[in-house]
Amino acid sequence: MFPAAFDYRAPSSLAEAVDILRQRGEEAKVMAGGQSLIPLLKLRFSQPALVVDIGRLPNLAGVERKDGHLRVGALTRHVQVESNTDLRTLCPILPEAAHWIADPLIRNQGTVGGSVCHADPQGDWGSVMLALDADFVARSESGERTIKAADFFQGPFTTALRPDEVLTEIRIPLAAHSAGAYNKLERKVGDFATVAVAVQVEMNGDKIAKAGIGLTSVGDRNLKARDAEKSLAGKQPTDEAIAEAARLAAAAAEPKADVRGSAEFKRDIVRVFVQRGLKTAVARARGGQ
Ligand SMILES: Cc1cc2nc3c(=O)[nH]c(=O)nc-3n(C[C@H](O)[C@H](O)[C@H](O)COP(=O)(O)OP(=O)(O)OC[C@H]3O[C@@H](n4cnc5c(N)ncnc54)[C@H](O)[C@@H]3O)c2cc1C
Repeated sequence: MFPAAFDYRAPSSLAEAVDILRQRGEEAKVMAGGQSLIPLLKLRFSQPALVVDIGRLPNLAGVERKDGHLRVGALTRHVQVESNTDLRTLCPILPEAAHWIADPLIRNQGTVGGSVCHADPQGDWGSVMLALDADFVARSESGERTIKAADFFQGPFTTALRPDEVLTEIRIPLAAHSAGAYNKLERKVGDFATVAVAVQVEMNGDKIAKAGIGLTSVGDRNLKARDAEKSLAGKQPTDEAIAEAARLAAAAAEPKADVRGSAEFKRDIVRVFVQRGLKTAVARARGGQ
């Protein structure tokens, strides 16, 4: 199918992009890698009057360490995260999750920012950012604001971004003795998750100082398993503590039965992946693997 007709603008600066959105944000759609938007246009699920192509804006792609956090530019492509060897020790959940996304063609075009703005409950980055307690930086004509990952995802394909805003970067706090893991079950390579779980831990000696857990494909958005996170704070990562956190995360999941499996099956995969992810994350945070 062909998309409905739309105007097309490709601003050459962020200032120009937000100016266009100030004037026509309500009737416009931002396009980054186009890997989710173009299919929506072709199926006519989305019929914007204007597409604002930000794909070539300067300084919005790349990952760098800055002021105690990792800055992931909104236009950073999945493959840039996947192939970043520094991240394998600095923040291993990032390249691990990137590797699970779609196939090489889509990983070469799709962006991290586009993925979180698309807010597909089956999207992988949303859960990773929830586990990492990331901050999302949005820019409009009136300035910049920061939105916590936990407040960003508001429902299926719905975020806290206003129509006049562009997501410019994601800030991920960096802490010593911290690491994460991403486990994903998919029917075949390149498929969206049947279930996936993001886990991040920060260790203080032999105890977990802080834990983050994000769930994919088991709710109307990426879910943060808060009770499970809280249950781990200040605890040693014993089998019992991990099993209890996994039980609480499974209880927080809201899976629906579909062609990929029953709700009970998906809930149990959450439990298994939280256990597996926590064990891997703790070992990595201790420098074990
Ligand atoms: C066959 C297929 C398989 C896939 N498999 C997976 C998978 O396994 N896991 C997964 O997580 N994803 C998967 N995806 C989605 C893929 O990761 C997309 O690349 C991603 O969702 C969107 O990124 P994009 O840069 O292409 O965004 P676009 O398609 O350009 O935009 C998506 C949405 O975000 C908005 N947007 C984009 N960037 C910004 C910004 N900076 N500021 C404000 N709004 C913005 C757009 O207006 C649009 O609404 C798959 C896609 C396809 C087609």
